[in-house]
Parts: sequence; structure tokens; C-alpha cells
Amino acid sequence: MTDLRFSPRGDGHGWREVARDVLVRRNPVLDLNLTLVLGDRSCLIVDTDCHDGLARELVRVVRSRTVLPWVVVNTHAHFDHCFGNAVLAAEQPGLRIWAHRGCLTALTERGEEERRSGVAWMRTAGRPVDAAAVAAVTVTPPTDLVEAPSGADPLTERVLDLGDRHVVLRHAGRGHTDHDLVVLVPDAGVSVVGDLVEEGAPPAFEDSYPLEWPETLDRLLPDLGDTVIPGHGQVIGSSHVVRQRDDLLALADRARDLLAEVGTGTVRGDGTGTTRGDGDDTARHRSVEARIAEAARGLRLDAEAAVTALHRVLATGSG
Ligand SMILES: [Zn+2]
Repeated sequence: MTDLRFSPRGDGHGWREVARDVLVRRNPVLDLNLTLVLGDRSCLIVDTDCHDGLARELVRVVRSRTVLPWVVVNTHAHFDHCFGNAVLAAEQPGLRIWAHRGCLTALTERGEEERRSGVAWMRTAGRPVDAAAVAAVTVTPPTDLVEAPSGADPLTERVLDLGDRHVVLRHAGRGHTDHDLVVLVPDAGVSVVGDLVEEGAPPAFEDSYPLEWPETLDRLLPDLGDTVIPGHGQVIGSSHVVRQRDDLLALADRARDLLAEVGTGTVRGDGTGTTRGDGDDTARHRSVEARIAEAARGLRLDAEAAVTALHRVLATGSG
């Protein structure tokens, strides 16, 4: 166990202790947060970074704090949160990697798509070395799943025992993806929320369910505690989560109102923003899209991605 207390400037290895034995490290590549929760029998690593090199750095800094075995949680299947899995598994044979079942599905069925997206992101960011490293990753899915017995209840959870403390892995419904997993550390008043909440950038809509996202945050808010670790950006309080929930709710309400004007049956969910129908229908859909985008911009949300996500979820009848 560590005796380091709250240290806002970090400990020399990039860890910042945000509560007793809960440490956060920000990766400057994507402003990504990696979290370490220390127990007296094992430790928990939440998210594993983008590729082998960054994951090896994560191993080094975890070992700067503890020699205990680790368990891993992937908050979701986006490359920056789970493409370091292979390195952590190689370091500790038999490693248990926890995630929601949807994360397993995403990585096994769409892992290569996720890799292409990661490579493209790194190239666009002017990071060709990181792009090549993402291209070389062995995509490694989770080994242990958090899932509802029936599938009907949006609240699903699992408790992990780290020795002298327990952590709760909770899926509260669809939001940033269909499988976001939140880690609650109740004895420390800390929660790790993945990309369900962002700081320093708007929430990312690409694989999202924008009409359900606000309700998912509502289900989580009562148990989040005082200290919230978002997927990216600075550590925040629950008031930040409330503000982001309010923005997402305002967008969802506006989108529902506007979509009711045109009917959702004619929306095609191919992500291109294209609609079918006659010329009048197309013009009306374009007008609705423009007004949804305008509402998103007014809320400082990513307008183009929001409209694309709405097309996708409406085509599948949910979201
Ligand atoms: Zn994400």
C-alpha cells in the first residue's frame, strides 16, 4: 500500500492521487486518463491505453507504485481504452480483463475497424509513429463479462474484491457506446466513467445513443461520489456530469421534437446524412438536420457527429 497522500502535481511517474490509494495518470497523446486503484491483495487498472509502447509505459508506472497482481477493466472498446490489453496480459499470464459483453462483441466483430479508426486518428493528429504502433497491436478482447441475466434491466453490475476494498463495475444503459462500463470506488467517493463524460472536449457521438445517453447519466448520478474521473481531461466533480447531462438532454429533446415533424420512418441510417423519399421529403429532412445541428452547436456539442448518430439510431429504432 502507498502512503502518498493527495498530490495535485503528480509523483514523478505521472500519477496523481485523487483519493486514498486511487491514482490517475493523464496520457498527453489523447489527454486520456488511466486509473489505478490499490487494494491490499490486488490492484485494478482501468483502461490500458492505445498501443504496446504506451501500455509498457503503463506497466512501468504501475510497478513504481505496487508489486501486487492486477486486474483490468476496459470501460469500452475504443482503441485508446483497450489496445494496451495484450501487453498487460503478457506481463501477467491468466490476466482477467473485465468489460461489458458489448465490448467483447465490438472487439471480436469490429476490432479491425476500430484499429483503422485509431490509425487514422493518429495520422490526422500528426503522430505517424503512434499510428504504426496502433496498426501493430494484437487486439485482445476481455476475458470476463459484466452482463445482465435477462438483458431487460439496463442496470447491470459486478463487485470486484481487491482485498481491503471493493469496487463496483456498473453498466447503466447505452450512452457513448452500447456497452459503457463505470467503475465505482465507494470507500473513496470516486468513480471512473470512461467516455460517458468528457472534460475539455465535447462528448463523442460516433458510436453513441444520443436519445438514451441522458437517462443513463441520470441512473449513474446518485452513486458517482465527489470525484469523477472522465475518459479524457481533468478530474471533475459530479456538477460537471450534471451539466453534460443537461446539454445531452436538451439536444435529445430538441431532436425528438424536430424528428416528430417529419416522422422517423423515412430516415436512412447509413451515416451519410442522406434521406430517401421525394424531393419535398428530402428538403424537409435537410431542414430538420440543419436545425438539430444548430441546436448541437448552440450547446457546444459536435453537430455533425450528433446528426450522424441520430440517423443511425433512428434507422435501428432505438437510441
Ligand atoms: Zn470512446
